[in-house]
Amino acid sequence: MRAVRLEVVSYFLLVSETTLKKILLAAPRGYCAGVDRAVDAVEKALDLYGPPIYVRKEIVHNRYVVETLSERGAIFVEETDQVPEGARVVFSAHGVSPAVHEEAAKRKLLTIDATCPLVTKVHKEAVRFAKADYDIVLVGHEGHEEVEGTYGEAPDHIQIVGTPDEVDKVQVRDPEKIVWLSQTTLSVDETKETVDRLRERFPDLNNPPSDDICYATQNRQEAVKTIAPNADVMIVVGSANSSNSVRLVEVALDAGAGAAYRIDKAVELDPAWVENAETVGLTSGASVPEILVRDVITKLQELGFPEVEEVRTKTETITFALPRNLRGELAAQGEDAKGKRQPGPDHTC
Ligand code: SF4
Repeated sequence: MRAVRLEVVSYFLLVSETTLKKILLAAPRGYCAGVDRAVDAVEKALDLYGPPIYVRKEIVHNRYVVETLSERGAIFVEETDQVPEGARVVFSAHGVSPAVHEEAAKRKLLTIDATCPLVTKVHKEAVRFAKADYDIVLVGHEGHEEVEGTYGEAPDHIQIVGTPDEVDKVQVRDPEKIVWLSQTTLSVDETKETVDRLRERFPDLNNPPSDDICYATQNRQEAVKTIAPNADVMIVVGSANSSNSVRLVEVALDAGAGAAYRIDKAVELDPAWVENAETVGLTSGASVPEILVRDVITKLQELGFPEVEEVRTKTETITFALPRNLRGELAAQGEDAKGKRQPGPDHTC
C-alpha cells in the first residue's frame, strides 16, 4: 500500500514538473515597420520588374531573409560598382551616405531607397546640426552600415563613440556647441551611460530633438526586461550581424536571465542549454520573420516545454509606406500602392 502511495506521489510530482516548464514569449518581437517595408520593397520590385533586382548590402540583417530573397532573384552586392550600369538597385533599410547616391547616379542606376524613415530622420538631424556648425557625437558602432551612412552626411562634424569609455577621446571646438545623436538599434541603458559620461565632460551637451533609438528597439528591449528576471534561459532569434538582436542578449543578461543565447534558427538551439530550465524566455530581433520563431517554439516543445505564454508589454501599430518611386510605378501598373499597408511579420515565409 505504501509503495502504491509513493508511486502516486511521484506521478503528481512528475506532472507538476512538466506543467511548470514553459516558454515566455516576448511581444513585441520580430519585424519592425522599417524592416517590413524594406523586405516588401524588394519583393514588390521582383514582382513588378522581374529578376534580377540588385540590393546593396543585406536588405536587413537576417540570413534567412537574404537567402530567401536570393532564391527569388535578388542579387546582393557590397557596393554599387558591382551593379551593372543602368540596372535597378535597392538601398537597404540601414541607409546610405550621400556619396553612395552620387555614385549610383554616375552609373545611371535605377534606385529604390528602402532606408527606414527613422534612420532618415537621424540623417536629417546630422545635416541640420552640421549646417549650424555643431560638433556631433554619434553614439554607435563603427563599421555598422547605419553609422557609416549617417557619418557620411557630415564627416567633418561627426565623431563616432562606441562605448562609455570612448567618451574620453572626444575633442570639440566649442563645448557649448555640441550635440549627441545615435544609431537606432543600441541598448537604451548603455547609451544612457555613454551620454551621462559625455554630459560630465560637456555640461552644455544638446540632446537629439527626439529619441534616435527607435520605437521598435526600445519596445523589444522592454519586453525582454520584463521576461528575463523569470527566465532560466533566454533565447534570442536573430543573426550575428543584427545589432538589435545582439543587444537583446545583453539586455536579457543585465535584466537577470540565468543565461542568454542568440541563434539564427531552431537547429542551432543546443538542448543542453535548456535541460535544467523550467522557464525559457523567447524573443526575436527586428529583422526576424515569425516563421523562425515558430520553428524554435516547435523545437522547445519537443524538448519538454509544452506551454507558451505570451508576455505583451506594448502593441505596435506603426507602418511605413513603400518608397515613393516604387509606389508610383505600382500605381501606374494599376496596383493599389496607396492603401495602408499592414505590418507583415510573415514576409518571406
Ligand atoms: S529597427 Fe527601427 S530604425 Fe531599424 S528598420 Fe526597424 S524601425 Fe527602422
